Amino acid sequence: MTTARPARILLVFGTRPEAIKMFPIVHALKAMPGLETLVCVTAQHRGLLDQVLSIGNVVPDIDLDIMAPDQSLDQLTARLLTELGRVYDEVRPDRVVVQGDTATAMVGALAAYYRKIPVGHVEAGLRSGDIHHPWPEEVNRRIVATIADLHFAPTDTAAAALIAERIDPKTVHMTGNSVIDALHATRARIAAEPALAAGLDALAERFAGKRIIAVTTHRRENFGGGMDAIARAVARIADRPDVAIVFPVHPNPAVRRAMDPILGTRDNVAMIDPLDYPHFVRLLGMADLVLTDSGGVQEEAPALGKPVLVMRETTERPEGIIAGTARLVGTDEDRIVAETLRLLDDPAAHAAMAQAHNPFGDGHTAPRIARIIADAV
Ligand code: UDP
Repeated sequence: MTTARPARILLVFGTRPEAIKMFPIVHALKAMPGLETLVCVTAQHRGLLDQVLSIGNVVPDIDLDIMAPDQSLDQLTARLLTELGRVYDEVRPDRVVVQGDTATAMVGALAAYYRKIPVGHVEAGLRSGDIHHPWPEEVNRRIVATIADLHFAPTDTAAAALIAERIDPKTVHMTGNSVIDALHATRARIAAEPALAAGLDALAERFAGKRIIAVTTHRRENFGGGMDAIARAVARIADRPDVAIVFPVHPNPAVRRAMDPILGTRDNVAMIDPLDYPHFVRLLGMADLVLTDSGGVQEEAPALGKPVLVMRETTERPEGIIAGTARLVGTDEDRIVAETLRLLDDPAAHAAMAQAHNPFGDGHTAPRIARIIADAV
């Protein structure tokens, strides 16, 4: 006689933002009786992923280590498909769960579809409405939506977008965004153990009395002209002696290639290596305002009440803008400078954006998603 095994849930992810949003869900699922939860990482971004796995206390069951220098999207997609297909054939999951809009999420869903394995999609329903911004993420996310049978929408706007695409409303669950779970958990850990983010002590001392602006940029569609304009804008902002720029530089070499010749070396600009999550969360807390083209940072900054200028032409996260904490400024040099100076010089404008508002969730998204997955078994 064979005994039925517990339902096997395989979470698949590969980059830093996916890992930040998935680690709370890994722990919530592991706490669910009657489920066997396994983690497969593709390591689409090796170094950045490993930082989060370690801070998030996640030990992958399967590590595909798929990162290769200068890999094209074709090569990455093809490798992901064959490797994930092989993993699914070996592990035989009863459900696959993917997050967001990366190649790993898209191919993770596709390989599951080829085997008729149901797919849960975390952070479903974000839409910019423009398939070229963000590129290729807008289409990746839409492909996952076509395949998934459980859609975890972070906001009402995202849930409505899915339903407008004729996705069965019974399969759409408004859960909030697990980035807020990760943010709360990490802030609580730093409060209990300041050493976790003590690597910023020296910078905090060096820039004491200055107004700190945190900058991140990495989007593919900003490579070329957009990055150069961002670099020139940051250089002009840094001409002010009352300002300090802290800029954790994404490891994609294209970012440094754009920044270094324009920004050069300045006393009040710290171009630093990517920070692990606790250090980055501390940096957001120290910052007066944030300039970014990142998706995740657009969610975290509003939750911390930090004004954020989004250096993109469109966003699939309108909630921060509607809430008033975020403003879309594109990659026009003059506009970035003007909006930044306005926030620095007009206390009322800064205060109006600095309302702590949290359109992305209450910090209890992960247990909600775990419950829905368990109930669907
Ligand atoms: N982040 C980090 N260290 C850094 C910069 C960002 O831990 O030096 C975190 C940030 O808090 C957010 C996530 O990385 O949760 C965003 O990742 P990224 O900007 O690479 O991707 P996106 O969100 O745009 O997909």
